[in-house]
Amino acid sequence: QAVLDRISAVEEKVGAYVTVADELAMDQARLADKAISEGNISPLTGIPLAIKDLMCTKGLRTTCASEILENFVPPYDATVIKKLKKLDAVIVGKTNMDEFAMGSSNEHSGMKITHNPWDLTCIPGGSSGGSAAAVAADMCISSLGSDTGGSIRQPASHCGVVGLKPTYGRVSRFGLVAFASSLDQIGPVTKSVTDAAVMMNAIAGYDAADSTSVPKETPDYTSVLNKDGLNGLTVGIPREYSEVEGLDPDVSAAVKDAIKKIQEMGAECIEVSLPHSKYVVAVYYVIAPSEASSNLARYDGVKYGFRDKDKSELTDMYRSTRSGGFGPEVQRRIIIGTYCLSAGYYDAYYGKASQVRTLIMEDFNKAFEKCDAILSPTAPTPAFPIGEKVDDPLTMYLSDIFTLSANLAGIPGISVPCGFSAHGLPIGLQITGKHFNEEALLRIAYNFE
Ligand code: GLN
Repeated sequence: QAVLDRISAVEEKVGAYVTVADELAMDQARLADKAISEGNISPLTGIPLAIKDLMCTKGLRTTCASEILENFVPPYDATVIKKLKKLDAVIVGKTNMDEFAMGSSNEHSGMKITHNPWDLTCIPGGSSGGSAAAVAADMCISSLGSDTGGSIRQPASHCGVVGLKPTYGRVSRFGLVAFASSLDQIGPVTKSVTDAAVMMNAIAGYDAADSTSVPKETPDYTSVLNKDGLNGLTVGIPREYSEVEGLDPDVSAAVKDAIKKIQEMGAECIEVSLPHSKYVVAVYYVIAPSEASSNLARYDGVKYGFRDKDKSELTDMYRSTRSGGFGPEVQRRIIIGTYCLSAGYYDAYYGKASQVRTLIMEDFNKAFEKCDAILSPTAPTPAFPIGEKVDDPLTMYLSDIFTLSANLAGIPGISVPCGFSAHGLPIGLQITGKHFNEEALLRIAYNFE
């Protein structure tokens, strides 16, 4: 009830939620009370959580912040939701996002604008901006986001909270509305590294319903949380990242300080090279829109959601439904993706991008022969003012420069707060690591935090 009261008090200013689930949440809370009275207590019993509005929640509207799914109520729960409910967590609502998770600022939401709780004139980051703003503004205790190219880490960085993108295949994508299937992962957005580990314990693990989920033992992520320092660990600093254009001086200074602290805690610090870094943005913005154009073909007015009922001829109905239901950024991606996948262009674009993706992956594999984790800024600048980049897609895409490669390589990445800009906006440090070694990231982040 306290969290729902807090939402009522600040939602008008922050705009973190698409749907607040008052009654359903209170029902779940009562179930949690019952579980507690029966001595049945999990680390998440009764904990109020917020869920990005692209994970299916049975009986609770799931919109992807798109008009095309405005009234879609899923008949089933995503695997992560099932797992959370089993632990008697309480879902207080569904959070705002860029439409179908396409964006870095939440300005591409078809529902509302989300404001950064640290400065309401600024964006919260995206696409899981609502999930990060809700955690930062105490409108939930923890939340889930999804990360296709940085959408958990970048908003976490801009809102001064912790965001973890697990290894591809670690967390089931069953019931996650697909954006780019070879890149998407669900992960936690939390107030602390401990909470991130607790959430990982709840959601990680093999799921037969997701063919890319990996049948691998899941560790107890909280077991690495001790402040014993970082002796024996080697961290890599990519040479290429210092050449990134448009890196804000406050971000650069905060990250340098963070690296120094991590060294003082006992980690050895070496330079590594990721020579294909300069292709990351281009490769991502071919692969992600291509996969999106295929995934979003299902929204045709027949199977789901919105349909333009005035059109009687089938192709007219498709055209009008899709032009009316999808926002401009989603339409831009569908058009780019359709072009990249079309006959005669596939080899030159999607095929070529996939080859370069392998080179990017190999860069990381080589770097990880010498180090346990790689440090960088999460985003090149702190949160920017609402409206500043919204009409300039290329500048917006370039703000993903540090986060995209973890998705292309399938490796885990975490963003932890590491300081503030001169204007008092939070800055995040990104730590990426080897496949299925989320523990190393949590260990460094916990010591650093
Ligand atoms: N900002 C990136 C994009 O617009 C990443 C989004 C995401 O991770 N979902 O595609």
